[in-house]
Amino acid sequence: MWKKRTGQQILVLFLCALLVVLLSNNMEKMGKYNEFRHIKFTDSWFRAKFFSEEMREVSDWLPERAKALLRNVEREITYFPVPESAKKPSLTTSFVDTWQAERNYKGKRGHEGTDIMASENIRGLYPVVSMTDGTVVNIGWLDKGGYRIGITSNSGTYYYYAHLDSYADVSEGDEVEAGQLLGYMGDSGYGPEGTKGQFAVHLHMGIYLYLDGEEISLNPYYVLQALESRKLKYEYS
Ligand SMILES: [Zn+2]
Repeated sequence: MWKKRTGQQILVLFLCALLVVLLSNNMEKMGKYNEFRHIKFTDSWFRAKFFSEEMREVSDWLPERAKALLRNVEREITYFPVPESAKKPSLTTSFVDTWQAERNYKGKRGHEGTDIMASENIRGLYPVVSMTDGTVVNIGWLDKGGYRIGITSNSGTYYYYAHLDSYADVSEGDEVEAGQLLGYMGDSGYGPEGTKGQFAVHLHMGIYLYLDGEEISLNPYYVLQALESRKLKYEYS
């Protein structure tokens, strides 16, 4: 009798504990659902964490429009924008997350992109290719961006490549393919047309959305991270 009762008590206790674990687990999920189901593209969390592992973890709870955007970008990004050198492996690039870091040229603002730095500070050496298929919608000089090129992908996402040294054979309206040469990495910008050398050679990448007439910039850092294993090889040294 004694043994039997203990056995039953242990079973009851075990079932109670299981119930508590299941309930708390479910409540945690509900909490996350409530936290993320209202997220907007304009929310700083969404813009800063775009494409990160953290965002993927909660992607089930994101609104449908946000999920669709993640899928669009995932589908269209094909190559890292700076190919490796087949001739000189020491020519490399690196980048860190500087989303919204302070920038001061022509007024204080947050950095709306990721800077891909060149291991050797030589303008016009590193090729820059399109990350996606798309159409060239902007090409030419901007005070802040220098010689820049803007490509709208088939999903309507805008990919912005800035501070180029020179352009490849591309013009406004051209259709480009992922991996196609756009120009060469440089240090142009921060002045009137032709200004160079105001900072180190790098490629500034920006990613923008146009939603209900509003331009929304996203953090390209995690997108670039996802593409690090997809670098083309070009012949340059
Ligand atoms: Zn930048």
